Amino acid sequence: MSFQCKRCDKEMMTVFYEGVAIQLCMSCKGIYLSKKKLEIIKDSREIDIPEDTPIPRNGPEVRRHCPKCDISMKKIKHGNIRTTMIDFCEDCSGLWLDKGELASIQFSYEIAEKNQFRNQLRRA
Ligand SMILES: [Zn+2]
Ligand SMILES: [Zn+2]
Repeated sequence: MSFQCKRCDKEMMTVFYEGVAIQLCMSCKGIYLSKKKLEIIKDSREIDIPEDTPIPRNGPEVRRHCPKCDISMKKIKHGNIRTTMIDFCEDCSGLWLDKGELASIQFSYEIAEKNQFRNQLRRA
């Protein structure tokens, strides 16, 4: 099955991120993956995200089209510390992440874990 980046009109490549197969557009570095795969990546700690990872600024959020279903995706908020706006396809439950958004999501979860750890130390 092939996926087409609707932003660049280019075929997406299958790449592995933390051992998970995801679709990457080589042109805009956009990523398409399922919700389940994002959960796996979130829990993985293979890649150390640097603390100064910038929050991607993509200007005004543009509506994306699902590379699988070719329908307009819905904007959803992701994360609780550093909120990232990502695109969600209600049809296939797929997610579209713009360049840098995956690292940002992963980073916010790592920060949350570190804070939890610090609080535990304080209580001990
Ligand atoms: Zn693209
Ligand atoms: Zn879809």
